[in-house]
Amino acid sequence: MNTSSTRGVARLVRGMPTSDGAGVKLTRVIGQPQLPDLDPFLMLDEFGTDNPGDYIAGFPDHPHRGFETVTYMLNGRMRHRDNHGHEGVLVPGSVQWMTAGRGIVHSEMPEQQEGRMRGFQLWINLPAREKMTAPRYQEFGPEKIPQLQSGGASVKVIAGTLGGITGPIAQPATDPTYLDIELPEGEVFTHPLPAGHAAFVYVYEGSARIGEGEAASTAKAHDLAVLTEGGAVTLEGRAAATTRVILVAGRPLREPVAKYGPFVMNTREELMQAFQDFQSGRF
Ligand code: FE
Repeated sequence: MNTSSTRGVARLVRGMPTSDGAGVKLTRVIGQPQLPDLDPFLMLDEFGTDNPGDYIAGFPDHPHRGFETVTYMLNGRMRHRDNHGHEGVLVPGSVQWMTAGRGIVHSEMPEQQEGRMRGFQLWINLPAREKMTAPRYQEFGPEKIPQLQSGGASVKVIAGTLGGITGPIAQPATDPTYLDIELPEGEVFTHPLPAGHAAFVYVYEGSARIGEGEAASTAKAHDLAVLTEGGAVTLEGRAAATTRVILVAGRPLREPVAKYGPFVMNTREELMQAFQDFQSGRF
């Protein structure tokens, strides 16, 4: 493996329409048959609609244990409330990085009756040693997320470092990168990623050429590009209107995964324990 080489596209995966919660329509990109996971990433959902019927039912009370959920809102407002007394409203441009740890029960409900709701929810695994940690939130409004110009690209740094500016999220276990990038047509953005980290680009508007030379590929809206091993990745905007993508990377955990719905542990026994603990109200 030549880690000094630039990254290309290992494969393109198309998001799959589905529904979750109480009937919220969304596009599942990671966590579906074409891409069951991408260690340490367990799931990526894009939700995006102007139709209240697609989102109004929301995600009533449900549990999580053993991993982190990362909600990044682009449009719309979502109220979050958990069984430990934590409550708040996610506004456009905000990020909630929730470490479920040993367990929370929460609801995620739209705080609007109409208008556009759009954003992402990413699930990131926790290593065995942190699965039963105390639940924790890292929440940042749009004003706390650095936005900078890098050549012609405009980039929001949620996690990771760009041009000496580090995003607000801290998670040493997986050392994540999470950038939201706007690329005008013909503009190029190159970003170094840590060697050995799993990485993907998800295009949510327009079209981008990803990688260079033989390993390059063009992804359009709702395509996820799994990146090859290596160092830096180069993106070029390929749509007349602005192209928008998220670039996400993290250190793989390389641990056994025992997963059922909202519980993600290492063994079947731990999974059964999670069910028992949830059912007996120990979350
Ligand atoms: Fe949830």
